Amino acid sequence: FLPRLVAAMEGVEETYIMIKPDGVQRGLVGEIISRFEKKGFLLKGLKLFQCPKELAEEHYKDLKDKSFYPKLIGYITSGPVVCMAWEGVGVVASARKLIGATNPLQAEPGTIRGDLAVQTGRNVVHGSDSPENGHREIALWFKESELCQWVPAQAPWLME
Ligand code: GDP
Ligand code: MG
Repeated sequence: FLPRLVAAMEGVEETYIMIKPDGVQRGLVGEIISRFEKKGFLLKGLKLFQCPKELAEEHYKDLKDKSFYPKLIGYITSGPVVCMAWEGVGVVASARKLIGATNPLQAEPGTIRGDLAVQTGRNVVHGSDSPENGHREIALWFKESELCQWVPAQAPWLME
């Protein structure tokens, strides 16, 4: 009964969140996951992953004409990343708010980038920018078998 109720909920979205190699190297994995977990979103997929160059290029294909693109691909493939799929009502825009502005010096205190980073080229985390890209990126980074459909015990205490 509850899974069907949650799936039918209006405005449910999914977003792809990724802790970039600097976040992993700096030991910020637990801290960053906590921000989304404590907010009350639903974790559907999670893995530590060494991203191949082709996947990084596909993920960032819209930026391929930017001058920083080669550096960006080098950065994302420089070490393991933590891939996550999160679900919730309004999760795409809300996660972008939790993450903060692209340039960490402009990101508000209290946001992940505002609290934990200083440079655009080392901004520790990625979040999908639209519900469409949420679907696209989750399909790109996860196999269907790596995603779990479940209802957390706290669901009735998060949503009336
Ligand atoms: P986001 O959606 O906030 O992550 O920002 P964008 O989609 O505009 O850019 C994707 C990623 O490319 C950013 O998170 C940065 O890691 C990187 N990036 C964007 N602009 C720059 C830049 O001017 N210099 C460098 N080195 N990296 C950049
Ligand atoms: Mg973006």
